[in-house]
Amino acid sequence: MKILMVSSEVHPFSKTGGLADMVGALSKTLAGLGHEVSVFTPLYRGLRERFPAMEQMDWEIRLPLGGQMVEASLWKLTDDGSATIYFLDQPEFYDRDGIYGVAGGVFPDNEARYLFFSKCAVHLARHMTSPPEVLHLHDWQAAPAALLVNHQKWREGWGTAPRVCLTLHNVAYQGHFSANTFSLLNLPWEYFHPEGAEFYSGFNCLKTGIMYADLLTTVSPRYAREITQDQGHGLDGVLRKRAGGLTGILNGVDYEEWRTEDNPHLEHEFNASDLRGKAKGKAALQQKLGLAVSPNTPLFAAVTRLAGQKGLDILLPVLEEMLAANEMQFVLLGSGEPSLEHAYRTLAERFADKVVVQIGYDTGLSHQIEAGSDFFLMPSRYEPCGLNQMYSLRYGSVPIVRRTGGLDDSVEDFNDDPLHANGVKFEELSVPALTDAIRKALRIYADKELLGILRRRGMSADFSWGQSAREYLRAFQTPSA
Ligand code: ADP
Repeated sequence: MKILMVSSEVHPFSKTGGLADMVGALSKTLAGLGHEVSVFTPLYRGLRERFPAMEQMDWEIRLPLGGQMVEASLWKLTDDGSATIYFLDQPEFYDRDGIYGVAGGVFPDNEARYLFFSKCAVHLARHMTSPPEVLHLHDWQAAPAALLVNHQKWREGWGTAPRVCLTLHNVAYQGHFSANTFSLLNLPWEYFHPEGAEFYSGFNCLKTGIMYADLLTTVSPRYAREITQDQGHGLDGVLRKRAGGLTGILNGVDYEEWRTEDNPHLEHEFNASDLRGKAKGKAALQQKLGLAVSPNTPLFAAVTRLAGQKGLDILLPVLEEMLAANEMQFVLLGSGEPSLEHAYRTLAERFADKVVVQIGYDTGLSHQIEAGSDFFLMPSRYEPCGLNQMYSLRYGSVPIVRRTGGLDDSVEDFNDDPLHANGVKFEELSVPALTDAIRKALRIYADKELLGILRRRGMSADFSWGQSAREYLRAFQTPSA
């Protein structure tokens, strides 16, 4: 099958979160299964220097964006047996510090940046030498392409137009703009109505994709149910109408990247049958962070965007109480909302010998934290899939997660199923419920045999992409609802 994916971020080129990991790994897996896969993504600052093998294509793009004509060009990176990556080069839009914005603020012209991106994606799909059978769009930044394909197919005679699949990675991010923004698409206004691109008098990119895509997927079965119930961030009604065409497919893990052996980010190797390297990794992490190198002190960790979604506001008072009363350490790596950054920095000052807070983005450190920690905290309000809990399972760091979205689909709790338990789950997003979960973790830590069982089970859990990739292929071929 020929598949063109369209995503505003793709690992290893650009990343702010799980979207990049997902697109990078799914495209690689599908290519490995013998499909002809390409990925279209913006040429952000620094990419040409980091990937000198990319080549400029003999292809100039000139497309209208509302009242102006915008020019761009394409670069291409090919790697035998892997997906071909097409980069959209438009320096005014994409050659900037940051992907969506800098230091907590978003760029004021993101609508123009990503509507142009969506237009170019459709242009590429229509004119490339080996055109796709499936156009796989990811999130609001690519979603408007669904309407553009629909328009060109039914109004402009694009008889070989691809099927359009839209994957919803997080319906809280919708790309909702003023009605005027719709004019940047240069389409007739007759698409701007409640069953089309309009949403509460504005233009909503994600809703537009939901209305015009042939099929919809999201990143876990439970999140697929949640967004048609009460977690749709206003789009539940729209999604209910399209629920027949919505499939939840759990993201997988790229175990070539997230591995505990021969990993360039890790000094000490380990595996499920030999955890000595994990103990060494913990000591190395404690030392690196300036914490007491203490093998018997449980080390809790979080690596996350500092966003309301992640439940870190609830975690804060829980940590205050637990750190004061117990021997434990906590490390946080993350960046995002300034108020949360400040609150966690203050926590680190108050518990200087027990807490380290690193504000920033650091891939190497994220691996070291997964490998060196004993417990990994994800008290999310909602979590479409979540990847870190799956990484932590593989790295022998027992996940403590809220029972929501993909967290519920990927972690097993002792109370539900003692024979398969590999983590701790709690239901209510509240201080008492999270406190209980951490207390439970401390009891597990005191019972070394149980800790070993949970770790080994977690480490042998298999979330590799093969099965999920096959589910995508099935979805691509399922007739539209
Ligand atoms: P989301 O996509 O909502 O951010 P996920 O758990 O699905 O959450 O994916 C987060 C990804 O981003 C993981 O690969 C995680 O390791 C990475 N990540 C998040 N924050 C940081 C950070 N500060 N430094 C390094 N990696 C990070």
